Amino acid sequence: MNLALLFEEDFVAPDRVRIRGRRLDHLKTVLKADKGHRIPVGKVNGLMGHGEVLSLTATDAELQVTLDQPPPPALPLTLILAMPRPKMFRRVLQTCASLGVKDLWLINSYKVEKSFWQTPWLSEDNLRDNLTLGLEQSKDTMMPRVHTRKLFKPFVEDELPALLTGKRALVAHPGMAAPCPSHLKTPAALCIGPEGGFTDYEVRKLEEAGCQSVHLGPRILRVETAVPVLISRLFDACL
Ligand code: SAM
Repeated sequence: MNLALLFEEDFVAPDRVRIRGRRLDHLKTVLKADKGHRIPVGKVNGLMGHGEVLSLTATDAELQVTLDQPPPPALPLTLILAMPRPKMFRRVLQTCASLGVKDLWLINSYKVEKSFWQTPWLSEDNLRDNLTLGLEQSKDTMMPRVHTRKLFKPFVEDELPALLTGKRALVAHPGMAAPCPSHLKTPAALCIGPEGGFTDYEVRKLEEAGCQSVHLGPRILRVETAVPVLISRLFDACL
């Protein structure tokens, strides 16, 4: 936690917060903060700054906060991801939040197992908690928006074309002729497949919607590796 993300419910006054639980534990055990110490904080979807510890008890800490700096710029990326296996999903969420992805679409695909959609990690609270961990890691405050689409064809035919307007649209698929571009200066949309990959039919549908198929070299990467590698390849902001 390189920044403590603060939520509306943490504020006991306009410039004062009370934190408990995980953030309190971190304050005590990792930062070893004491009264008078300053720690980096940020208000969700707002400014960042510091919090000065006013009091520290077994159950909570009260901080006086000064919020005066903007968060880092968002990545101009719409990430469209075939719903990952639950074990991987949490980590991928955190990685996306850390890298500055603000618009994440979780879609179905032939090789996404039905059970993946039942994961408790998709609940609103769990999404928020994992995205918070990612934001706190990279010192950002802007909470990503997550959309789920459990039917591939209606999403690709009815929604995707509009979503791609004004963007460099790509689908990452091993073995394609074109290499993944780099140093993008324009907004982009990137589709990443499931563990078993997109089917040929799905790649064709994504292409019909306006995506260019690109490869990332001969090594086939796990989804959790492909996500950060593709994103950092596309945007210099991640270098
Ligand atoms: N056997 C699957 C295939 O050939 O498509 C492998 C899927 S890979 C584990 C999961 C996803 O990561 C892929 O659908 C793709 O979007 C992305 N990916 C991984 N390695 C890639 C590479 N070398 N080139 C392009 N995309 C890659």
